[in-house]
Amino acid sequence: MPIRDRVDLDWKSLPFGYLKAGINVRYVWRDGKWDEGVESEDEYMPMHIAATSLHYGQAAFEGLKIYEAKDGRVLSFRVEENAKRMQHSGRMMMMEAPPSQLFKSAVQRVVRANQRYIPPYGTGAALYVRPLLIGTGSRIGVRPADEYTFLVLTVPVGPYFKSGFTPTKLIVDETRDRAAPQGMGSAKAGGNYAAGMCGTMEAKSKGYGEALYLDAREHRYIEELGAANFFGITPDKRYVTPKSPAILRSITNMSLRTLAADMGYSVEERIVPVEELTQFAEAGACGTAAVITPIEAILFRGKEIIYLPDGKPGPHCTALYNALTALQFGDAPDKYSWTEEIEV
Ligand SMILES: *Cc1c(COP(=O)(O)O)cnc(C)c1O
Repeated sequence: MPIRDRVDLDWKSLPFGYLKAGINVRYVWRDGKWDEGVESEDEYMPMHIAATSLHYGQAAFEGLKIYEAKDGRVLSFRVEENAKRMQHSGRMMMMEAPPSQLFKSAVQRVVRANQRYIPPYGTGAALYVRPLLIGTGSRIGVRPADEYTFLVLTVPVGPYFKSGFTPTKLIVDETRDRAAPQGMGSAKAGGNYAAGMCGTMEAKSKGYGEALYLDAREHRYIEELGAANFFGITPDKRYVTPKSPAILRSITNMSLRTLAADMGYSVEERIVPVEELTQFAEAGACGTAAVITPIEAILFRGKEIIYLPDGKPGPHCTALYNALTALQFGDAPDKYSWTEEIEV
């Protein structure tokens, strides 16, 4: 078992938040090519005051977690998918995105440089990796930049559910749209999250955890939360998740669909009318940060649809959560080859 010279942190109670930790790596695309990149301890980056990311929102990000396994191996999870999604975001915003090879080697490099911050197995904590792609070339007219910066930072994050796997309540927000039908919803574009803050804050002010958005054209179909996909489980074991071009393709959701099918659920990725909310036995939000957040109740047009009357996670979400996290931490055999060891 490799002995890592780890920093001394209270791993189990780390928040999901920024912490000044270690080293970030930065690559610049200029004159038609990516440079070799540099490792930096600086938390700031000097930028041109007319950078397109600042004025016109040429900015996209990714998020993934690195886990330490019981035997000390350091595991990444489906990084290739994050690379492809950043390329998709880049295409949608006319940004040059790192090729998959560069994306993966940048992740490996930053993990290696920050190995002292990789949380120990058994604490439930992980190393969160945040790749960022921004236009750093200057423009005043609205057009794509001639320079892009690809930066990857890491931050150790504690177990998302510190006091155990805990449900949250949602509110169907019919006063706002997350993304237009032919708009930017499928990109992890910075601006989408600025736009979502209103809905989140309003939901919180009313005692709910997050807003659930409907399709922007008809307001009849479920789309997703501000930063997580949605799924429902029917009493007859169907895993139902919305399909729409305006949804961000969650890698957690993709993985859960595969696992659910293996666990005997029938998987349906399709249009989901909002009325179907009443037909689910359980519902969940999914994404890298929390993996699955079980949904206790959803407020829709003044009435609460209650899934978990005792406020405790249900058996379906629990089983799916356990299956996916066991794979991510290397506790279950990885028959899909989703995990990859990073040599540190
Ligand atoms: C990042 C994100 C998700 C979750 O995606 P994962 O790949 O599972 O982390 C879902 N919805 C939105 C809007 C997101 O930004």
